[in-house]
Amino acid sequence: MAQKFQKIIDGLWLVEDICNVYIVQCNQRAVAIDFGSGNWFDDLGQIGVEYLDHVFLTHHHVDQCSGLQDRESWPFTIHAPAGEEDFLDHSTMRQTGSFSRFDRGCPKSYSVLKDGLGNVVYDIRSHLDFLWLKKRIRFLATPGHGPNACSIIIDIGEKQIVFCGDAAYEGGTLWQPFHLEWDHYSTIGTIAAWQGIKRLAAMQIDLLCPSHGSIIDSQPNAKLNLLAERLMKLHDVKQVNYTEEKDLYLDSELLSFGGAKLFEHLYQFGQNGYLLLSSSGQALIVDPFGPDMEIMERLLGSLGGVKPTAVVVTHYHSDHCDGIEYLRQHYGAKAYLHPQVARPLANVNQSYIPWLPKVSISADELWPNEGMWQWNEYNFQIDHCPGQTWWHCCFMILIDGRKVFFSGDNFTPLSRYGGGCVPCSFNNGRLEDGYLKSAELVLKYKPDVIASGHWVYYHFTESRFRKIIQWAHHASDVIRQLCPTGDIEKDYYNMGAEPGAITKESIVRKPKGVTYLWAK
Ligand SMILES: [Zn+2]
Ligand SMILES: [Zn+2]
Repeated sequence: MAQKFQKIIDGLWLVEDICNVYIVQCNQRAVAIDFGSGNWFDDLGQIGVEYLDHVFLTHHHVDQCSGLQDRESWPFTIHAPAGEEDFLDHSTMRQTGSFSRFDRGCPKSYSVLKDGLGNVVYDIRSHLDFLWLKKRIRFLATPGHGPNACSIIIDIGEKQIVFCGDAAYEGGTLWQPFHLEWDHYSTIGTIAAWQGIKRLAAMQIDLLCPSHGSIIDSQPNAKLNLLAERLMKLHDVKQVNYTEEKDLYLDSELLSFGGAKLFEHLYQFGQNGYLLLSSSGQALIVDPFGPDMEIMERLLGSLGGVKPTAVVVTHYHSDHCDGIEYLRQHYGAKAYLHPQVARPLANVNQSYIPWLPKVSISADELWPNEGMWQWNEYNFQIDHCPGQTWWHCCFMILIDGRKVFFSGDNFTPLSRYGGGCVPCSFNNGRLEDGYLKSAELVLKYKPDVIASGHWVYYHFTESRFRKIIQWAHHASDVIRQLCPTGDIEKDYYNMGAEPGAITKESIVRKPKGVTYLWAK
């Protein structure tokens, strides 16, 4: 049986627990970096440690500290980075909303102890050192796995040792890189991580001791610089999807109440809505958002007696579908949903993905997964179009002689969201089998107009979508390079779940030996 305590150098031990736990020993006394399951604590006598004085947590994730829940009190002081009380302190968590309803967006953290931890001192601060016996313990902000994560620097013998938590993994990679996604769209976590790694890479490091994987003793600085380069590439591919394409917005006629007329039979209203007019006097509503219903009413009024009889949506996000119930109640409109969009909406309490509407929505009729569907004089070409999220469809309709491709939240011009393609693990925003596949469909259909959500409609050009395809390949490589296993499926997408998995059990990865507790 492998020894529980592996001696790294005199005075430094490693326990390979649910995370790496490091014990720094001075005679009978010791401190620990991270705690893991704590299954090693009662055996410290084996290495001659009688007193564990302090436990320093690099960050709040469950694998760092779950064992600390097991006892009411411990004979050591637990230290955590300042700010981590937002994730660790039960009372603070409730106030700050760290127990966020993740279905209203992405959670602030993907790894939080359900019941939190008491008796933690939040005194780990960058540039504020801590004296223990004759040692000066230093802290350096290395965010990424949360906004407050810190590295801990301790001299042992002649060596300067850096305990970097999950800021770095061997080979210039990152353990569970999806933790950098502090929200579903921005690069704020990536940039913060890059800054932290640049700070670390500037130091003279003899041993770099991460929370997962092997200790890095060969050229740690070179590997940190490689990681910093990869993080900056990740920032770049998330920030902007392609370059040098004009926006090419479509001219439209502003209506007095704020909506816009695109063509004789197509109108845009509010944030996400479109109204397709049939010569039968009926209307079909695309992507009804609750707050947009008021302006839709004014549009219907201006059209004089038009009645919405059908409603369709591009994807399940609440701002594209939570007006369905209004249309049903007020007009008896029927909801026609793509099977992939209908799945998470059918039971929102079972679905473990962001931006769900508050209440479940059922389809009156399901669309085909791909193929044709007819409403009055209009033929819809329907396809599963993953991109911003897996549960997304697109459809193309010939309207007043123009082929209009309704792309939901998938593609925008450069002045809006840098092109509108954002990989996000929790949203299951996929690249090669997501954005790329959908961009290929656009190229196949060669529409005249792309009608997106969020008040965006523009002329189609082939070059834009060819660039998006190149971007998707490149972005996929960039994320893959950050994955410890080199497998983007395992380490990144949907937090390692199957494509299209929506239940909690199938999505959340459980650190070995831990009941994974999600804040809710
Ligand atoms: Zn972590
Ligand atoms: Zn969306």
